[in-house]
Amino acid sequence: MRFVDEFREPELISKTAQEIRRLADPQRHYRLMEICGGHTYAIYRFGLKDLLPPNIELIHGPGCPVCVLPMGRIDDGLSMTEQPDVIFTAFGDMMRVPGTHGSPLEYKARGADIRIVYSPADALKLAQTNPDRHVMFFAIGFETTAPSTALTLMRARAQGIRNFSVFCNHVTIIPAIRAILDSPDMRLDAFIGPGHVSTVIGCRPYEWIASHERKPIVVSGFEPLDLLESIVMLLRQLNDGRAEVENQYKRVVPWEGNRAALKVMAEVFELRPYFEWRGMGFISQSALRLRDSYAEFDAERRFQVPGIRVTDPKAAQCGEVLKGVLKPAQCKLFGNECTPENPVGALMVSSEGSCAAYYNYEHRKAALTALTMPASGTGLPAGGTSLPACP
Ligand code: SF4
Repeated sequence: MRFVDEFREPELISKTAQEIRRLADPQRHYRLMEICGGHTYAIYRFGLKDLLPPNIELIHGPGCPVCVLPMGRIDDGLSMTEQPDVIFTAFGDMMRVPGTHGSPLEYKARGADIRIVYSPADALKLAQTNPDRHVMFFAIGFETTAPSTALTLMRARAQGIRNFSVFCNHVTIIPAIRAILDSPDMRLDAFIGPGHVSTVIGCRPYEWIASHERKPIVVSGFEPLDLLESIVMLLRQLNDGRAEVENQYKRVVPWEGNRAALKVMAEVFELRPYFEWRGMGFISQSALRLRDSYAEFDAERRFQVPGIRVTDPKAAQCGEVLKGVLKPAQCKLFGNECTPENPVGALMVSSEGSCAAYYNYEHRKAALTALTMPASGTGLPAGGTSLPACP
């Protein structure tokens, strides 16, 4: 498949991994943060960590929109299902995210009208086919998905649709990076920049990271070779003492971003003065809300939203994992109370959540390895166990 196969070519991957080992100075420890949850997923899925020398540490960043949403916002959104005529719509990855009284899926099991949609346009269609109901779309995502919400709202207004609203939880990536850099317990050398967000915002918004913070950043694609090449580019910068913004993902990311997408976002949204991020607290100007001109479509103005603030369960260390201070397996609940089947935190729900990615690939790999290790002194597989199928 074009743009996939050539980025999974084993020989090229092996050569690039060799180049990484050659460039990694054994006297240094390199702490690289991949901001995007899609990168975290790819790193675990393709086992890329195993190709790196031990002095290159990959730190998982806050770029999973489901994971950074505080539980109170989920409760706020679900509170709208108490209105008898409301159809609650959201992307599938929201369905198992726990709120205080259950996930959207659990609300659905209790009788709420909750439906999965693949796009905000699908939610709008549902409003058109159900004129006697009100369809609320639980909007979530970084700048990657915000333009499609904006376009849908523009269409709703142009078509005079009145029974549709958006509960806006779109967040913006730059303030989150700034919060990470300002965090006293964060020591980072460089960033693997987000690929999807950058297709919209381009590379320019990262320039301050290089010029003011002196941290290199390379915007990266999602295939194994993309990520390894990005690490090569970062190591070259770090070894040369340079701090620049580079674009490894040129086949998709234009330096100036997508002007049409930025324009529709500016038409519909404005920045909130502040917004709460799970584990990171309130970050100023880090999220979007609907402009006054779109007030009639704003679920927060249409319905009485309780504005609930909920703290995570005490033992859950989602915040520390989100900030990259702890690795997923260092959370006390990891793999015991918190698993993909029974998630306590959102990081265990979304495929882009670092805990789910770590559990599904690293943790299960370790369990399988333990099962296939020869029993001591016998040279035979332990217990003659047949291996469980990896889901
Ligand atoms: S294991 Fe569960 S509770 Fe712990 S950080 Fe991950 S998602 Fe949060």
